[in-house]
Amino acid sequence: MVGTCHGGQFAGALDCDGTGDGFLVRITLRGETGTLAMTIDREALKSTLTEYTCGQRCMGHAANHGGCCTVETRDFIIGPIADSAAFLARLSEKTGRAVPHAEVFVDHAEGRALFPDRATWQRRENYPALRVVMDTPRHACRLYDDEAGACTVYEIRPEVCRRFLCDPLRHLLSLV
Ligand code: SF4
Repeated sequence: MVGTCHGGQFAGALDCDGTGDGFLVRITLRGETGTLAMTIDREALKSTLTEYTCGQRCMGHAANHGGCCTVETRDFIIGPIADSAAFLARLSEKTGRAVPHAEVFVDHAEGRALFPDRATWQRRENYPALRVVMDTPRHACRLYDDEAGACTVYEIRPEVCRRFLCDPLRHLLSLV
């Protein structure tokens, strides 16, 4: 199997030779050729590619981080959080206090006014959404540590955060 990826500033090539449960993999990313050769199973390969992309080429941009935890200037909302009640329970247990819904989430009435010119923030079905920090340009999720480049609640993060794939990563995984 051979594939190439082009998405945003991301460009790369991926070659796989399937042998039983294993794959020999070569990944070449534009301008900074890194060759990775190993024999691993498909799920392990997907996991490795996800870890690499999220850690070093978030949203397909070199050295980027936290693209799916920040809104920036995009028409993007971190929601809906279908498991909001379960997540609040996990967060309350983690912090040792009852965390109020409004501390972590934004509902439609408030959210639509925060970004009146962004369509995703106007749609009721996108709520509750994770609250973002309004007084910084990145508008990061309030649970994201923008300096450290890490989610502060990673082990207990909501389902949508576990499942979300940006377009470059989705495309890369589709080649495996
Ligand atoms: S909960 Fe964590 S993973 Fe989800 S958007 Fe916020 S910082 Fe990102």
